Amino acid sequence: MREQIVTLEKIAKQLEPGTETRRQWVGQVQEYTEQFLEGISDRKAYNKEGDHEGIDRVSFDSGGKSMEELLEVLAESLDKPGINPASGGHLGYIPGGGVYPAALGDFMADVTNRYAGVYFANPGAVRMENKLIRWMAQLMGYPESAHGNLASGGSIANLIGITTARDAMGITSAVVPKAVIYVNPQTHHCVHKAVRIAGMGESTLREVPLDERFRMRPDALRQMVIEDLEAGLRPFLVVASLGSTDTGAVDPIDRIADVAEEFGLWFQIDAAYGGFFVLVDELKEKFKGVERSDSFIIDPHKGMFLPYGVGVVIVKDTAQLNKTHYYKANYMQDALENARELSPADLSPELTKHFRGLRMWLPMQLFGLEPFKAALKEKYLLTKYFYDRIQELNFEVGPVPELSVAIYRYTSNDIDANIFNKALTRAVQEDGRIFISSTMIEGVFWLRLAVLCFRTHLREVDLLLEILERKRDNLLMKFKPD
Ligand SMILES: *Cc1c(COP(=O)(O)O)cnc(C)c1O
Repeated sequence: MREQIVTLEKIAKQLEPGTETRRQWVGQVQEYTEQFLEGISDRKAYNKEGDHEGIDRVSFDSGGKSMEELLEVLAESLDKPGINPASGGHLGYIPGGGVYPAALGDFMADVTNRYAGVYFANPGAVRMENKLIRWMAQLMGYPESAHGNLASGGSIANLIGITTARDAMGITSAVVPKAVIYVNPQTHHCVHKAVRIAGMGESTLREVPLDERFRMRPDALRQMVIEDLEAGLRPFLVVASLGSTDTGAVDPIDRIADVAEEFGLWFQIDAAYGGFFVLVDELKEKFKGVERSDSFIIDPHKGMFLPYGVGVVIVKDTAQLNKTHYYKANYMQDALENARELSPADLSPELTKHFRGLRMWLPMQLFGLEPFKAALKEKYLLTKYFYDRIQELNFEVGPVPELSVAIYRYTSNDIDANIFNKALTRAVQEDGRIFISSTMIEGVFWLRLAVLCFRTHLREVDLLLEILERKRDNLLMKFKPD
């Protein structure tokens, strides 16, 4: 037996390469990522080329391969085709980020593999995550006693908040068919998903009418709640958008809080996209009343420019969050006895998890807050700048941008605007230097501008304006050949 173990050990030890190999790999990966970043401004924001099927040709069963060979596959199959969220030219959906020190935080978290799920296992890691959570809670005017979780993204964060609301409001399975939830019609689809996953698929989801700027109308909400109560239903939750994905609209938070208070509804704010604009003084006014909500969602992988993988939920009443997510396991008894701070495992569905705190903490500490604030304000102003310029190019625009999303389209008497604008979106995407996306609002096709990548500056916005003008003129010749 010992002999067999020794033989296996020799092979298994390949999993622990020595310093020299490690240095070599890090060097190669660093070279690769440097090349990626150095060329970032020339790289397409959207690329139809690239052989993504190359991934299939690298098999798992043919032994170890060289890093060089693998990086070649990644360059062609992974980092070429599709959208490039690291590009400042990504102005579609809600752009991503990827500030560099976050990658270093992940690197360290992975090499040391600290266990951040439970206080007993790594009190420092849990404390770091809790400190970040308290910082975000305080940004929104929540009390010290509020708590939350660094989840993987806004969708899971919304799910945690909605599940907590369900339990806190006594929505047991018997009550679900009578339960009513109120949302903005442009609410992110992850809210609908969360309602179903949380076992409330048979509840009623009411879309509250919007004002002319796509914001939830508190008077309409109030009326709906009254009618539902009269009909014997059980209104229990309103989800407001602080920065909707479609149009960047900010619901009137303070007035929705009035209605939530009047009728004892749980008030959750989805600030996944818009939350960090609270750091911009000019925009603070839009956050009036957020402190009156019961829970909110905020995505550092959007507004703090982190790479994908962190979305946060914060619940004002920590006991409620804990009640939905507590656990007991005999094999965890040592951990539970030693707890001096609540752990992520007490406050979310996860037990073992990625140590997400370090990727946020490190950039914040290295840079300080000022560059983040400046970047957010810059993105807001870039959006307003675009909004003015695009009108000079005779485009029609939607509402004045509240944060960093604007909608616009080209119309003219003798063209079908929906078909034309769809073709225009295609043409910009095919060009690829800038990536934009579109949306449909009440049957009208709109192009969207969303500025949130930290690499987006005047250069990219000016380039988009130039591309839009040229593609529009080309298309007009096709649509109106005279
Ligand atoms: C992005 C977004 C979400 C979903 O968050 P993910 O991090 O993509 O899971 C939810 N709500 C809003 C308003 C968003 O912009």
